[in-house]
Amino acid sequence: MLDYAEPVTKLIDEFKRLPSIGQRSAQRLAFHILRTPAAEVERLIEALREVKQRITECSICNNLTDVNPCRYCSQPSRDHSLLCIVEQPYDLVAVEKTRNYKGLYHVLHGSLSPIRGMRPSDLRLDNLLPRLKPENNEGVEVQEVILATNPNTEGEATANYISRLLKPLGLRVTRLAMGMPVGSDLEYVDEVTMDKALTNRHEM
Ligand SMILES: [Zn+2]
Repeated sequence: MLDYAEPVTKLIDEFKRLPSIGQRSAQRLAFHILRTPAAEVERLIEALREVKQRITECSICNNLTDVNPCRYCSQPSRDHSLLCIVEQPYDLVAVEKTRNYKGLYHVLHGSLSPIRGMRPSDLRLDNLLPRLKPENNEGVEVQEVILATNPNTEGEATANYISRLLKPLGLRVTRLAMGMPVGSDLEYVDEVTMDKALTNRHEM
């Protein structure tokens, strides 16, 4: 990258640190920024600064939020007896988009993975068990925990681990039903999905 002026190289290097951005994408982004009017770039810088300053993790559910407790945890209309465990804040958004779920959440900020060196102690579980008690949950006892981790090896391992943790407490532990993605063809479905779909088949 000796061809570019130093500030440009620096910007490209910073972009390359972002997830799924390689050399070519980083270059494209850098040149896009160079062509962008200064006022627009200022807006981007301000937006970056603002998320870093204002967004924290909810002390109850670990969701990213600008108020603590977050909007879900502090909403009295949410069903406090139901808890949905997700890997990432954007998974929470995916569940929320269905508009059918009215319970609370718990965000793990990761999943178990020996390859990535993610161990149980790296999951945000410290504040999970305490919040299952009525005294820490607006006087409501949690009845059911839904394990909504990803339907892949890491998500499955994470769900199994948490399930073993929660089952002895006598509450209902459920896992999202897995099956064919809507709009897909059978021939393109991998064997894990096919296996789950067969196991979770229902009466017609
Ligand atoms: Zn929260």
